[in-house]
Amino acid sequence: MQAVLSATPQWVETRHKEPKPLNLHIAAFGVSKAYRKGEHQVPVLRGVDIAVQRGEFLSIIGQSGSGKSTLLHVLGLLDSPDAGEIHLGSQRIDDLAVKTRDELRNRVFGFVFQFYHLLPELNVLENVLAPLMIRESIWTYWKNRRTHAERAKHFINKVGLGHRLTHRPSELSGGELQRAAIARALVGQPQILLADEPTGNLDERTGREILDLLAGLNSSEKLTILMVTHDKSIAAEAHRTVRLTDGRIEGLDIR
Ligand code: ADP
Ligand code: MG
Repeated sequence: MQAVLSATPQWVETRHKEPKPLNLHIAAFGVSKAYRKGEHQVPVLRGVDIAVQRGEFLSIIGQSGSGKSTLLHVLGLLDSPDAGEIHLGSQRIDDLAVKTRDELRNRVFGFVFQFYHLLPELNVLENVLAPLMIRESIWTYWKNRRTHAERAKHFINKVGLGHRLTHRPSELSGGELQRAAIARALVGQPQILLADEPTGNLDERTGREILDLLAGLNSSEKLTILMVTHDKSIAAEAHRTVRLTDGRIEGLDIR
């Protein structure tokens, strides 16, 4: 663990005159993951070490197929590593009982994907409410429904979509779909936002707007953000960029 910590704090040291103490938020230590293709095991992650500070906006770049999505899924407990550990603060989280893991995933992480993954039959408000429905029993949800609706509207307004509450995904532009997906990721008030190519399906200008929105959330809400992209100029908007190559993170800050 010490090696990882000493390999990564360049950002902390270059952005402040006085080095700030590390405040580790999420980390992977020696994470490996392979997929089975027929007879063969295809290694994707081969000992990934990465440490992200609380409030940091980190981008992870790498070629298509380099394992960026796999890494984000493993960090966010959507998938398990074959070897290695995931830590949230000082706690190991990859080996928790399934129920605890599910609850932690739901409460700690917000996910944003390239293709939005909104439910087509629900409108914007209903899509944003969905994580709260999943989190609670039907009875608790029903009791809290007014507060939840207010909270959902708050985040929909925050992403600039207040005028689209009752629109369905088919009635929205790409940028609006991603804004709705970001509101859905925020409604559970996560600590960490994991964004997988969030601008990958958008034209350049709309992509920049989404990026500005993420950067604004990082600074105003102190949200820790890990963003995966294959685009260096998009990655450069983050505080720090690392590259995934040959199943490992290059320690180097590539800006
Ligand atoms: P990236 O996001 O960098 O494009 P991925 O993490 O999606 O890369 O995939 C890395 C490699 O793992 C690719 O070769 C891909 O085909 C393979 N892979 C990803 N998910 C699966 C899966 N569920 N089953 C088998 N192979 C997979
Ligand atoms: Mg991917």
